[in-house]
Amino acid sequence: MGKEIKLPATPQRWAIHLSNVLKAFQAVHGLDHFPVDVASIAREYSKQVFPDEPITLVQGEAMSKNFEGMLLPNPKKKGEWGIFYNNAISSKGRQNYTLGHELGHYLLHRHQAPEGIQCSGRDMLDWKSEYAQKEAQANTFSSFLLMPLDDFRTQVNGHKGSMEMMQHLSDRYGVSVTAAILKWLDMTDQRAMIVVGKEGFIDWAWSSERLLKSGVFYRARQETIKMPTQSLAVRQDMMIDNLKGVLHPKGVWNANEEVQEMTIFADQHEMTISLLLYPKDPPFKSYEEDEGDSLEDTYQRFIKTGQKPY
Ligand SMILES: [Zn+2]
Repeated sequence: MGKEIKLPATPQRWAIHLSNVLKAFQAVHGLDHFPVDVASIAREYSKQVFPDEPITLVQGEAMSKNFEGMLLPNPKKKGEWGIFYNNAISSKGRQNYTLGHELGHYLLHRHQAPEGIQCSGRDMLDWKSEYAQKEAQANTFSSFLLMPLDDFRTQVNGHKGSMEMMQHLSDRYGVSVTAAILKWLDMTDQRAMIVVGKEGFIDWAWSSERLLKSGVFYRARQETIKMPTQSLAVRQDMMIDNLKGVLHPKGVWNANEEVQEMTIFADQHEMTISLLLYPKDPPFKSYEEDEGDSLEDTYQRFIKTGQKPY
């Protein structure tokens, strides 16, 4: 055996480790830090650190819409790996996220999956499976690699959540607005939520920790939940500045609270993405808040509340 390298053990630590390697490299060469060039890192880093198992191919492929990407061994050359993303999905942000996701699989899971990993869209998943847990880990890695927490904090500190800020983050990091909002929800101390709507129903939703603890969330994957008819997402009124949003009175999104909604319309208006901001404190003190800090990982939280784990 050659030199022993102590490698990171968790998705977050792997992402932080790569960010640091990248920062040092960029400082030497005077390059921009963002957006992160995942394809180059995948090739260069694996060649340096795992010379017997390098990633030699990073490529777009037209796959069926059920697939986001794949990590596959080279059938012709033992030890080599390839990363593929579905280029039938036109969103650059989603492609970047998938590249990060597949690199995460390579770093975290390749030895458990010598035949490779094919990543389907979330509708194909059985969320209680071990596969789903690997998917959640790869997503965590991708999120932390593309949007390192230190830089992310610098960008959002002192700002109230707004859709304009999310669009700025999306541009800066080369990710979808959805990915930027989810990252923000993970670190904000505000009570806030993303709600993705399709055909008048909530497709999925995700609450910030503080909002969740006050008991506000949707189990949209287990139950069929209609979008509020008065919501911006349903009204699609182009006379309103949907990006800036409106403050809804009680009874629109929540019976007991006023809620600010900002919305963008995607996929030719077939999908809506709403950012909801709730008042700083809940109207009633919820018992969950007394339970102290029970930080759980996203996956456990998903199993409990049925929220989307990324
Ligand atoms: Zn995957």
